Amino acid sequence: MSTDAPWHSLPVDDALKHFHSRQSGLSPEEAARALQEYGPNTLPSAKPRSLLRRFLHQFNSVLIYVLLGCAGITLMLGHLTDSLVILAAVIANALIGIVQEGRAENAMASISKILSPQATVLRDARRLSTEGRYVVPGDIVVLEAGERVPADLRLLRANSLFIQEAILTGESVAVEKQTSPVPENVAIAERSCMAYSGTMVTMGEGLGVVIATGTQSEIGRISGLLSGIEELQTPLLLKMSIFARWLTALILILGALLFAYGYAVLHQDPQLLFMSIVGLSVAAIPEGLPAVLTITLAIGVQAMAKRNAIVRRLPSIETLGSVSVICTDKTGTLTFNEMSVTNICLTTGEFRVEGEGYEPSGRILRSDDASPIEATSADLHLFRLARAAELCNDAMLHQDDGHWKVEGDPMEGALLAMSRKISPNKEAPRDRVALLPFDASYRYMATLTRTGPQSSDASEQTLITIKGAPERILAMCTQELGSDGTPEPLNERQWHQRAEALANAGQRVLALAEKHASPNQTSLSSTDLEQGLVLIGLVGLMDPPRPEAIEAVADCRSAGIQVKMVTGDHAGTAAAISRQIGLEKPGNILTGADIDVMTDAELRDCAMETDVFARTNPEHKLRLVAALQTLGMTVAMTGDGVNDAPALKRADAGIAMGLKGSEAAREAADLVLADDNFRSIADAVREGRTVYDNIVKVIGWTLPTSTGEAMIVAAAILFGLTLPITAAQILWINLITASTLGMALAFEPSELGTMSRPPRKRSQPLLTGELVWHIALVSALFMAAVFGMFVYIQDQGHSVEYARTITVNTLVFLEIFQLLFVRTMHVSRFSLSAWLGTRPVWIAIAMVVLGQLAMTYLPALQLVFETRPLAAKDMALIIALGFVLYVILEIEKRMRMALTGAPTTDKA
Ligand code: ADP
Ligand code: MG
Repeated sequence: MSTDAPWHSLPVDDALKHFHSRQSGLSPEEAARALQEYGPNTLPSAKPRSLLRRFLHQFNSVLIYVLLGCAGITLMLGHLTDSLVILAAVIANALIGIVQEGRAENAMASISKILSPQATVLRDARRLSTEGRYVVPGDIVVLEAGERVPADLRLLRANSLFIQEAILTGESVAVEKQTSPVPENVAIAERSCMAYSGTMVTMGEGLGVVIATGTQSEIGRISGLLSGIEELQTPLLLKMSIFARWLTALILILGALLFAYGYAVLHQDPQLLFMSIVGLSVAAIPEGLPAVLTITLAIGVQAMAKRNAIVRRLPSIETLGSVSVICTDKTGTLTFNEMSVTNICLTTGEFRVEGEGYEPSGRILRSDDASPIEATSADLHLFRLARAAELCNDAMLHQDDGHWKVEGDPMEGALLAMSRKISPNKEAPRDRVALLPFDASYRYMATLTRTGPQSSDASEQTLITIKGAPERILAMCTQELGSDGTPEPLNERQWHQRAEALANAGQRVLALAEKHASPNQTSLSSTDLEQGLVLIGLVGLMDPPRPEAIEAVADCRSAGIQVKMVTGDHAGTAAAISRQIGLEKPGNILTGADIDVMTDAELRDCAMETDVFARTNPEHKLRLVAALQTLGMTVAMTGDGVNDAPALKRADAGIAMGLKGSEAAREAADLVLADDNFRSIADAVREGRTVYDNIVKVIGWTLPTSTGEAMIVAAAILFGLTLPITAAQILWINLITASTLGMALAFEPSELGTMSRPPRKRSQPLLTGELVWHIALVSALFMAAVFGMFVYIQDQGHSVEYARTITVNTLVFLEIFQLLFVRTMHVSRFSLSAWLGTRPVWIAIAMVVLGQLAMTYLPALQLVFETRPLAAKDMALIIALGFVLYVILEIEKRMRMALTGAPTTDKA
């Protein structure tokens, strides 16, 4: 039989036999051998572009065409040096572009690696999560709601298993799966005993044996290629590149007008005039800007990844910086999600559970008299509780160098640990017949199990066990397990009080119940749970808050960001935890039931005032996001389940959990948290703000300097003055500063006080009045300084060449000091360490200074640029002037801040 056998028309055992597999899965050794034989479960990725093509691609921009045009005309006019300098600038720009692009692509690629899908397989009967690439033919794969199928599978178990196969069949309605063979010639869409790689489980659970991986799978045969890396483009970048194009057009028109004026009115030498205008245009065209902005984003992506926030969609970086409310999960995000059962309530009394972590050993103590209970498994009530906890459970505990770990849901792991503390002896084997998986919208989980012959209770053959939120379970039960071990009428009120008491202590509460079923029952639906359920008891689980989340919540609040807890948990538990975490209004609680009876307008009215939303389901999250958005908030919302996808998509920044989240939630999200930790959300917001700040800084440095340079030349032409700077010299400045100084700003770390100012309004334009003012002020100061120096030096009896050398150096040092100012343009408090800043800034400055020294003092360059060696005292004067510029800008900033009331007490 070939690997291509029509497995859908054959019994599953054939597939198992063919791949030397079995229900309990391959052994690790067999899997390793299969990996050798079949290769990894991956699709080949698109070939990277060649270096040459990437280099040529850099020239594909209007800005560069204009520069190349200038170089060409300049050459035709016989100005070899000038055209070489322009060409050098273009090539330097392209080289930097390639390096940046490579860096940005690497950042994205390493991130897509982090996001590589996981699969759960059975190896030697043990659940194991592994990267999808290591899944091999013969592996037994566990399918759960919200996960992508990692390879082509022949199903051997399917419980209410629904799979959405649009990627293969185009059909967006999920189809139900089963396990019996289907006719050989049916289409893929009808092969209901198969699950195909890349399709999405929307409901239920199942098991399947892998029959094809990688390029052998159906999806591999169709596409054969992984989709490439997402393009590095965001709305802001797009806006900027359109802006740069129009700016270029404007510069060309102004240049032409200036030429006409100089020629027709002032009768200047057309060749010299033309060259000055080329210099002016080249200086003013921000050819490096798009590339610098791209790398600013790429560095932001990397910085976030370092802080465990993985950006899936680039534009979300911009959004994150303006987030004004974060709606967060509780379990695992604000808390550790390392659960342990600490309390048990039974008809016969209250118990405390001792022990560390998930280790299945510890004493069970009666709360009333604190005396350890002997032989706990002999206690019928405890035994039943342990059995239900064990049966209604999908987790596994295993020991990993001395530590007990959970594979699966930590809460279920805690129940297993509890159950084994009660009855350490391994129970008789059981067969799970059917399962109603947990769903956040009904908050319980039930199983139907056939138990083997048992010493304690021989009559029980088929048992339904259920666990879930106490209100749900109490509403379904009519009886409780009485003190004598027989069912008695349920004392609902008393159980509610006991549940409430546990919840108010910050515990997560679960109720467990059971029911006998007829031995021939083979499926389970919610109607089976309507009658005859007998409540066994309640358990209280501790899940302490994360200390770093407490800090992060405080950071968010000082940054003007509201934090709201949106949880499926009990209102009491949620309130207790939100108090410990330090939410603003922990007492203001809305439950899902409250929201259900509210109109959208009513919800809007109390959404701002409420910080805790308990017993919510995914639809409530969606309504909450919408309500907050109509109030003008920029909403970040977390989610982990399949049904959270709509809310994640609707939120301005949808955040999925990397650890406990489903693939469906991750794919809908803008951001994935590698560690599920709230701290990482706060850090991502900080990074988002930093990236935006840096973009503003890059613009705030580039535009005023190029405007300043251009205006100096334009003014000289307009007023018929001696040019204070030659065309070649201005091209030189453009060459050495544009790609060094501007670029350094992309690496700026967060400013002091980044998290102590209120969030930026989404509607705030990039070019704020403040930025326009800064551009105007700096250009004016540049002009004044340059013309002042030019005239003053000539007055001192120096030649025009000497004076021009002064001008070139003055401009460059002004730009350096302007850079130093821009770095802290939002900060009101001076800090030496912030001022000393990052290495890239000082490397860039060092490079520029060396270049300037070479241009001024190297004879060869003196020849090319007509420069003269400057006296030390004149150099000192230039640097002093730069420092004065810095001081003026700094004072002006403080004056402005004093009036606008920016915070003066910055926090790091
Ligand atoms: P959270 O917001 O804390 O993540 P969930 O939506 O995961 O809340 O859970 C909500 C409630 O559903 C829990 O308080 C618990 O009562 C119940 N629950 C959660 N997981 C399970 C499960 N695996 N089986 C049964 N009930 C569960
Ligand atoms: Mg949850």
